[in-house]
Amino acid sequence: MTADPRRSLPSVERVIELLVNAPGSTPLPRMLVVDAARDAVEVARARVLAGDAVSHDEVARVAADRLAAVEDGLLRPLVNATGVLVHTNLGRAPIGASALAAAAAVGGGYSNLEYRTDDGRRGSRHDHAGALVARACGGEAGIVVNNNAAAVLLVLAALARGRDVVVSRGELVEIGGGFRVPEVMAESGARLVEVGTTNRTRRADYERATTDATAMLLKIHASNYRMIGFVEAASIAELATLGPPVVVDAGSGLLDETTPWLPGGRPAWLGDEPGVRQCLDAGAALVTFSGDKLLGGPQAGIVVGRRDLIDTVARHPLARAVRADKLTLAALQDTMLAYLDGDATRIPLWRMACAPIDGLLLRAGRIAAACSGRAKVAETEAVAGGGSLPGLTIPSVGVVVDLDSGSDVERAARSLRRLGIVARIEGSAVVCDLRTVAPADDSTLIQALVTVLDGVVGR
Ligand SMILES: *Cc1c(COP(=O)(O)O)cnc(C)c1O
Repeated sequence: MTADPRRSLPSVERVIELLVNAPGSTPLPRMLVVDAARDAVEVARARVLAGDAVSHDEVARVAADRLAAVEDGLLRPLVNATGVLVHTNLGRAPIGASALAAAAAVGGGYSNLEYRTDDGRRGSRHDHAGALVARACGGEAGIVVNNNAAAVLLVLAALARGRDVVVSRGELVEIGGGFRVPEVMAESGARLVEVGTTNRTRRADYERATTDATAMLLKIHASNYRMIGFVEAASIAELATLGPPVVVDAGSGLLDETTPWLPGGRPAWLGDEPGVRQCLDAGAALVTFSGDKLLGGPQAGIVVGRRDLIDTVARHPLARAVRADKLTLAALQDTMLAYLDGDATRIPLWRMACAPIDGLLLRAGRIAAACSGRAKVAETEAVAGGGSLPGLTIPSVGVVVDLDSGSDVERAARSLRRLGIVARIEGSAVVCDLRTVAPADDSTLIQALVTVLDGVVGR
């Protein structure tokens, strides 16, 4: 009689012991360590039954891999060396230190979120950040919700349910991540009335479609694509004289076209990106935009404009479902105070976007030098990203590692990602664009590059 081969399997307890005592083991909760150990023993049992020999060390390795995968799946910081400033998959705009401190101060205890300290009565969460955003872009009032998609949905539901919303055929866009204007419209219960053609829509087209059933004229900024050639669109000012409120989904949240918060004036890479203030000045009744694109704040959707309309929007039941939380409101409030101060240095997005080339060159030189001749400094092109400013680039500087083959470059990029660095691949080179890397992360980048170049990681 032969012994049951399953007897050779380590116990789950034994695998846990091996995992916990392994050098560099991660301090994950025991429950997750037990899951990994159980899974690994299960896999080994199946292999043993199929006739394979499996050592205890192998089982421990499988368990360690599972645990590493769990750790890899945890939300954690990465270094963005892609040169894409508003990188949606990497969390869009980084939040500034003072905004984070404000969120920590408010979130770590109780606050006047919906409370008035003068009379002890209930207040409104829109009185803080919402009011400041309105002040910063010249609106009468403002509210803050979860994101811009929610802002658009809420505005449509509150002001146009069961009524007509007139939109140019050239603006029935998909923004990415499933935000399609016709679908959002259907979800809100508003009726979409398409006017004009894909490339040309005039004021007269909107005028013909405007009836007693028209709730609003909606303009959507074509954030992520550009139409050139034989094109025409009606301006906000032209539409504002037709009667129904003009609502503008401005997308990126560039507060003011003239960027008064930047000492050097409006940068060329902003192209013709419209400012929220200018949309309102031109006659928009409401403007919606994201908090974490060019505004450089936390994820949020912001609606600013006419007070009567904002009040109606704020009273709608959906407003409760999509409201912003205290952490967001605290961080956004601090971001708005920075704008009102004219101090863009507190906003990481603008700090990075406007970092002078000289400084980037200096950093790149130091990083390349630390790689002892295996990396070079090169001029690169960064982009705003986040579906804004297609085709426009920001001059930048990168550290470039040339490799022999495509497979080497893929492997190097993967190794860098394992070390927390997301770089760009260009041909057979790995490019680390420094415009999106915080100077404080330079040493992390150096360490990762040296490790990868030494071939310690990878394979
Ligand atoms: C980005 C964008 C949205 C979606 O905004 P989120 O904040 O991601 O929900 C909607 N409309 C336009 C024009 C955009 O650019």
